[in-house]
Parts: sequence; C-alpha cells; structure tokens
Amino acid sequence: MKISDILKKYETTLSFEVFPPKTDDKFSVVESAVSEITTLKPDFMSVTYGAGGGANNRFTSAIAADIIDHGVNALAHLTCVCSTKELIAERLREFEAAKIENILALRGDIPENAENIESWDYRHANELITDIAKTGKFCVGAACYPEGHVEAKSLDEDIEYMKLKADAGCSFFTTQMFFDNDKFYRFVEKVRAKGIEQPIIAGIMPIISAKQVKRSCELSGTVMPKNLAYAVERYGDRPESMRELGLAYACEQIADLVVHGVNNIHVYVMNRPETAKRIRYDLGHILPVHEC
Ligand code: FAD
Repeated sequence: MKISDILKKYETTLSFEVFPPKTDDKFSVVESAVSEITTLKPDFMSVTYGAGGGANNRFTSAIAADIIDHGVNALAHLTCVCSTKELIAERLREFEAAKIENILALRGDIPENAENIESWDYRHANELITDIAKTGKFCVGAACYPEGHVEAKSLDEDIEYMKLKADAGCSFFTTQMFFDNDKFYRFVEKVRAKGIEQPIIAGIMPIISAKQVKRSCELSGTVMPKNLAYAVERYGDRPESMRELGLAYACEQIADLVVHGVNNIHVYVMNRPETAKRIRYDLGHILPVHEC
C-alpha cells in the first residue's frame, strides 16, 4: 500500500526504521530481527540505504521485499549522492521488481573526499524526487529537519529548500530525530506558513546507548535537552539503566506528540525488536495496531 494512502486511511500510524546488513554474513541476523519486528504489525517499515553507492545497497530492496513478504508495507530509502541517472534508473527497476511502492528520496551525506560535485547528475534530493515522481510508479517521501540541516545557513533557508522537495512531487516528509517537542511544533508552524501541506511524520530515536546518541547528535546537529543530557551523563556507562531511561523518554515524547495532534510516528528502532516491542506495547492504546 502507498504511504500516502496509509496516512489518509488511519487516524494514527506507527512505523519503524531498520537498516540493512553491511556484509553478506550478517544478512540472516538482520533478516531475523526484521521478521520479529514485523510481527508487531507496524503500519510500515522503512529500510535505510547507504550514501555513495556501496555494494551493500542491494540489501535495501532485499530487506524491504522481506518486510512485504511478512505482510507489512515497506518504504525503501534511496540516496543519490555520487550516483548517476543510470544507476538510479536501475535501482528503481529493482524496487519495482521487488514490489516496493514507497521510496524515501534522499541526497545522502557528501563524502569528505568528494570531487567535481558541480558535475554530478544529482546535487540535491529535489532532483531525485523529480525523477522518481516522473515514473508515476512510486509514492515518494523526503527528509526534513526540525532543527535545520547541518549544512543549512538557517532553519528558514532549509525550509525554502524543503518547499522545492514538496513541489517536486513528495507526498510526505519524515523528520530527523529530535528530542525537544517544542522545537518540532515551532518547525511545523513555519513549514505550514510556507505553504507546505504534506503530512510530516515525526522521527523518534529512543536512546539505547550513550555512545550511539552522542555520535548521532554530533552528525545531525540535534540538540539534547538538559534532562536527557543529565540522564546520559549519570547513566551513560550503565547500559541497562540507560536503555530504561531512553525508552521511557521516547514513550513520553511520543505520548506528548500524539496529545498535540501529531498522528504519525516513526521510530528509529535500529534493528532492535525489544525497542519496537516496548513502544508498541506501552503505547498500544494511543497508536493501535491496524489489521490489514
Ligand atoms: P537535501 O534535501 O538535498 O538537503 C541537503 C542540504 O542542501 C540542506 O542543507 C538543504 O537546505 C540544502 N538544499 C536542499 N536543496 C537544495 C537546492 N536545490 N539548492 C541548494 N541547497 C539545497 N542518509 C543515508 O545515507 N541513508 C539513508 O537511508 C538516510 N535516511 C534518512 C532518513 C531521514 C528521515 C532523514 C532525516 C535523514 C536520512 N539520511 C539518510 C541522512 C541524509 O541523507 C542527510 O541528512 C543528507 O545530508 C541530506 O539529505 P537530504 O535528502 O535531506 O538532502
């Protein structure tokens, strides 16, 4: 099912994100974690895609096809950085053959040693969205950044570029992780004021380890609120305590979003069935399962 239809059909949605294996020998481990997560019947599951055209990118469609085989809708990510029009066309054929109906169209991070950027086939996600939308075969989504993308001069400038993605044929947006809901609410107001009307799915990252969150925040520029920073400082070297606090924070954050009318929640579960279970079971009455 197309995500645009899922978002229209249900009052609330819960989706989970997983990532494909980096090497062949890890495929079965990821496959089994993913299949366990599908038993929780999220409204869809997304599968990330490496930037820069690595060989393991073929696993994105394989894992997405697996998700579909388990009766769950899939969203395959696709990045265009360093890619050619031919390679993207090949990936789209591969996605279509795997019965993938939804694509999150991304630029990807520019590699540090990148050269001749001016001559690349794709320089920004809006160009990829245009090409995918032209095929008429997929529901296309894009990324957005409640605190602004790290390369953007300002949040307002970033939202200007978000409008290009909206106008290029994007049907929904998923946010970068954020921990401060007030920042998200202010962001949505600004986005709507710019005339961007597509649904915005809130991306929530439960903090499971201090190391993981520090690295993610460094890369994405996401700011940790004080109370969360204190929790990381105090319990960061006690994995069980950190996990418990991180999941409690995520559940509370999601509950607050739903209370404020944010109906579409995407959780970065990082291939961890236990994380997905906790969210599904603790919030089962506000984000209920939808039988297909
Ligand atoms: P763009 O929309 O191209 O934006 C990149 C920067 O350029 C921004 O600063 C923007 O303001 C600016 N900009 C945009 N359009 C223009 C334009 N036309 N002219 C000038 N400037 C412009 N990365 C992966 O490698 N694999 C994944 O699977 C993946 N999944 C993600 C999922 C989500 C929900 C999010 C939020 C991010 C994900 N990323 C993933 C990370 C993403 O690839 C990086 O954040 C990347 O640096 C930007 O991608 P984008 O699609 O937002 O790029």
